[in-house]
Amino acid sequence: TTPQRPYNFSAGPAALPEEVLQQAAADMLSWQGSGMSVLEMSHRGKEFISIAEQAETDLRDILSVPANYKILFMQGGAIAENAILPMNLSEGGQTDYVVTGSWSQKSAKEARKYCQVNVAATNEADKHTRLPNFGSWQLSDDAAYVHVCSNETIHGVEMHELPDLASLGSKAPLVIDCSSHIASRPIDWSRVGVAYAGAQKNIGPAGLTLVILREDLLGRALPITPSGFDYQIVADHESMYNTPPTYAWYLAGLVFQWIKRQQEGELSGLAAIEARNIAKADLLYGYIDGSGFYENRVGADCRSRMNIPFFLKNEAHNDAFLAQAKAAGLLQLKGHKSVGGMRASIYNAMPLAGVQALVDFMKDFAQRHG
Ligand code: PLP
Repeated sequence: TTPQRPYNFSAGPAALPEEVLQQAAADMLSWQGSGMSVLEMSHRGKEFISIAEQAETDLRDILSVPANYKILFMQGGAIAENAILPMNLSEGGQTDYVVTGSWSQKSAKEARKYCQVNVAATNEADKHTRLPNFGSWQLSDDAAYVHVCSNETIHGVEMHELPDLASLGSKAPLVIDCSSHIASRPIDWSRVGVAYAGAQKNIGPAGLTLVILREDLLGRALPITPSGFDYQIVADHESMYNTPPTYAWYLAGLVFQWIKRQQEGELSGLAAIEARNIAKADLLYGYIDGSGFYENRVGADCRSRMNIPFFLKNEAHNDAFLAQAKAAGLLQLKGHKSVGGMRASIYNAMPLAGVQALVDFMKDFAQRHG
């Protein structure tokens, strides 16, 4: 057995399940007796095709993706999707964006290059710590889509329920940037037209972007859309119009199999993952709220299970906190520079024991510096 590695709280690229890394190491020189590393395989060969198809089947199974949705394995990250999406879906017309933090703000800004953007709601006034009520959203009559970021990685704000746009009077499909909580909980596809996510948090390495979209939304791309980013073309070529990020796709497949193997009491797969994520988040928020020494400023109904920003009430101790945490085997806890303080990202791969180790350290630190 290898010695225990430190717990890594990075927001992304983030910790991966150790079993996945070990499997990748075992496969490195020769994948399943093929004599080739996955890194060396043609994306058109039968070996890689089998890896690719299995990964897609497993993801479809984990997230219960309906048959009339395509799963695209793309590149460019969620940042590129901020442009690729309006190029593919806006037809140059009206769109609605809900701004709930840095990431949705960036999405709205980028979309303005390609279409008209109505900011239907924003929580800027409360520094992105509350979610605007669905009922307050000022949706357009004729939007091509409504865009939200369902988990704001920097501000730690999560939509625990997605809006039912039809009940809000909109006929538009909902688009979610779910980069930082995909595969941490189920997705209600009856409310979603497009979901996209960079892989480097819950899915695998950077370099792969997942786009899951309803088939009727294909075929609307603006003529300027680069062919490699045209959803219809990518779908028609099973995500192999250009050479896909093969190694990232393979590693994502290992993560999907890991998710499927998870057990928590009676629960298995994604249900087990979600139960564990709830327990982890409850443990950390519960401690922070009761500590008197630390605080989290996000509204109780929209606190992220994945990204937990927190502050030491006496910020003079910040540097000591980070240095001592690192020495205790708790890595990458520094908050995003736009928010400050600390942030613990506790994605699927973070075990409950890792969150417990963080809480134990925080208690001890508070006792010594309180
Ligand atoms: N959207 C969200 C919610 C994110 O957390 C991130 C990344 O950290 C991005 C978009 C940007 O993703 P990328 O850097 O992969 O383009």
